[in-house]
Amino acid sequence: TILVTGASGQLGRLVLDHLLASGKVAPGDLIAGSRDPAKLDAYTQKGVKTREVDFDGDLSEAFTGIDVALIISTDALGEPGKRQAQHKAAVTAAKAAGVGHILYTSLPKAEESVITFAPDHLNTERAIKESGLPYTILRNGWYAENLFMSLPHVVQSGQWFSATGEGRNSYLPRADMAAAIAGAILLPAENKTYTLTGEEAYTVREIAAIVSAVAGKEITVIDVTDAQLAEGLKSAGLPEGFVPTIVSFEVNTRLGHFEPVTQDAATLSGRKPQALKDFLEANKSVFAG
Ligand code: NDP
Repeated sequence: TILVTGASGQLGRLVLDHLLASGKVAPGDLIAGSRDPAKLDAYTQKGVKTREVDFDGDLSEAFTGIDVALIISTDALGEPGKRQAQHKAAVTAAKAAGVGHILYTSLPKAEESVITFAPDHLNTERAIKESGLPYTILRNGWYAENLFMSLPHVVQSGQWFSATGEGRNSYLPRADMAAAIAGAILLPAENKTYTLTGEEAYTVREIAAIVSAVAGKEITVIDVTDAQLAEGLKSAGLPEGFVPTIVSFEVNTRLGHFEPVTQDAATLSGRKPQALKDFLEANKSVFAG
């Protein structure tokens, strides 16, 4: 029996979809875990079971009877330290239940990453290794969808303020991430760590050139310092607590921590990840009206 936690989230749903489509898992052998199982009606109708799983709540029954558990990291981004406590509670409960294979969604170069919440991921990875449970760590690169946070404004204004310099990011669409994770769920645990990335890493100028061509609008990249970026985010109305987090994404890119490109996504999913240009073409309506 396979448990996917955070099943009602965007990644969780896609992982369930890929597992069902694989034909290798009977729907009844799949448990979609969520804080709110009522959100999973579409899956219940397909024969998938649901279970209430809240890392902040009582986890004593959450992993009962589970052979393979995917722990999807939670979304407590603005509260460094909180996710670590949530994930560690999940690992402890999985260990107590004797889960046969635990998988976890981490982030690239967890040791070097300067992202504000990177320690939460690194410490979860360590807790998993210390638990002695057979594991697979999936270090998820940056979702190509993250570009949608800034692109609508970039395209509208024709200006892209960036602190990433010549740093590169090997963006991967969420659907390809999910396909790879589903692939890993179906493999035996070999205590491996994978890094899921696209097949190419791009600078902000290279992405701007692609977006210009797709949207039919000239885009100028304007280099800013970290402090200028923080100011800009504040004046754009981003809640103050999130500003250091967003700035840390750009510093992390500038330092090259998002640059590595691996073949892990293709290997695990058995399919070629969508190229960034094709992804942006397909989602043009999100940022180019
Ligand atoms: P969503 O925002 O769609 O989903 C948030 C997820 O967090 C849901 O799966 C939700 O599960 C889960 N969650 C929140 N609180 C709890 C809790 N107390 N106990 C258990 N689960 C909890 O994010 P995505 O699906 O897009 O991404 C999945 C994860 O990947 C994110 O939560 C985040 O850790 C990380 N991420 C990675 C990014 C990247 O670019 N690599 C970008 C953004 C996020 P439910 O509601 O079903 O209980």
